Amino acid sequence: MPFDAAAIRPARLWVPKRVLATAAALSWPDGEAMAERAAALGADVVRLKGDRLTGLPEVYADAKSTLALVVAPPSRRRPQPIPPSADWRFDLATGCPAHCQYCYLAGSLAGPPIVRAFANLPEILAELPPLLGQGRVTSRDPGRAAEGTTFEASCYTDPLGIEHITGALGQAIRFFGAWDEAVQLRVTTKYDGVAPLLGLPHGRRTRLRFSVNARAAARFEGGVPRMANRLGAMRVAALAGYRIGLTVAPIMPLPGWRDEYDRLLADCAEALAGAPDPDLTVELITHRFTPNSKQVLQGWYPGSALEMDETARARRTTKFGGVKHVFPRELMAGLRSALEASVARHLPAARVLYWT
Ligand code: SF4
Repeated sequence: MPFDAAAIRPARLWVPKRVLATAAALSWPDGEAMAERAAALGADVVRLKGDRLTGLPEVYADAKSTLALVVAPPSRRRPQPIPPSADWRFDLATGCPAHCQYCYLAGSLAGPPIVRAFANLPEILAELPPLLGQGRVTSRDPGRAAEGTTFEASCYTDPLGIEHITGALGQAIRFFGAWDEAVQLRVTTKYDGVAPLLGLPHGRRTRLRFSVNARAAARFEGGVPRMANRLGAMRVAALAGYRIGLTVAPIMPLPGWRDEYDRLLADCAEALAGAPDPDLTVELITHRFTPNSKQVLQGWYPGSALEMDETARARRTTKFGGVKHVFPRELMAGLRSALEASVARHLPAARVLYWT
């Protein structure tokens, strides 16, 4: 049966229960607009007199339904190298409203898991042009050089999941669209609310990557649209001329994984059938955890069946001296060859950017 994106009902948009808007954030037009959009959606917007966020909720459910509107300080505005995903990382927000039991943000953001959206978007975007042509990833990988300098906006958030309140992703897309040089905005999402992005003057300088997974692994995801919705969103984004990516993550060898991942990639191919030039890329990312992320995730999701057993993993030391637990070498090799074969079979025109 042909893939029918129009038949897919968009998932419900996230509405925070409480929005804490600092005075500094509200002094920016974007901050004021974010507060107004949140209020129109029914959120309780607290307009703070100062800039300190105090009394943040410690309980997980309360934190996850809290949005803070703040100003990104200079340290947060400074883009950082982020191989292998992109040359540079920059942040429009931190935190995410979803509830994935493997969440890769666990342990990497301090404090309760609230979402912080940045109001000083012009200052954040102004940091990017000086970095033009300075990419370590694209300068070292001839296969990626044609993309120009790449900028990743979804390291610490899912920008599409909060776009209906922030409008920040749309602004970034316009900003890159107006740029004459070879550059690319890179975004990964598990959400499906692409409608407001479709008509933007993106100039094909944004790659929207959709985070997908086999059914058995996707059951660890909460508060995000179903896979069919994400694939429907991917299709309409491709038809609107965006460059498209698949982020297959986190890959897990759950029962039936070979067939499940093969079916997933077949579904992706079906979703993109007839899209004129999606320029498809694929990123393949296996599941891993650190001692810190495990501790945080066990606190957030105490009943989770997600495997985080150090004895079943290989221990790796990161370049910053930290420890991460990945799948053992042989299992990694088996996963990699099967996944790459499925990509080649169903998506022969796709470029696999990396396996990790
Ligand atoms: Fe974490 Fe991504 Fe899931 Fe958000 S969508 S909870 S950032 S894994």
